[in-house]
Amino acid sequence: MSDEKMVPTRNRINVDKIQQFFDDNGVSMECPICKTDEWSIPNGKSVGGNALPWGTGTGDMFMTGLPVLVMICRKCKFVRQHSLLEDDIPGAIEEF
Ligand SMILES: [Zn+2]
Repeated sequence: MSDEKMVPTRNRINVDKIQQFFDDNGVSMECPICKTDEWSIPNGKSVGGNALPWGTGTGDMFMTGLPVLVMICRKCKFVRQHSLLEDDIPGAIEEF
């Protein structure tokens, strides 16, 4: 018998990798609504982003989710999202 226990993989957002991706690709940090540039990332230190309901193409809606980085404007609370699907932002999701 093995003493190995199943330990679920835990993921979190690597904010440095997000910033590097934004810098490398000229992604604007300006809020399109209020023009400020301060954003918060909810749960960024403890979980791997969020997910949007996403159809599978088989007619089974909401059976899976598109992984996204959610950012909330600190001033006007506008919500923006960036895809984290299949390493869209390299290294953005890391295990811990
Ligand atoms: Zn704003």
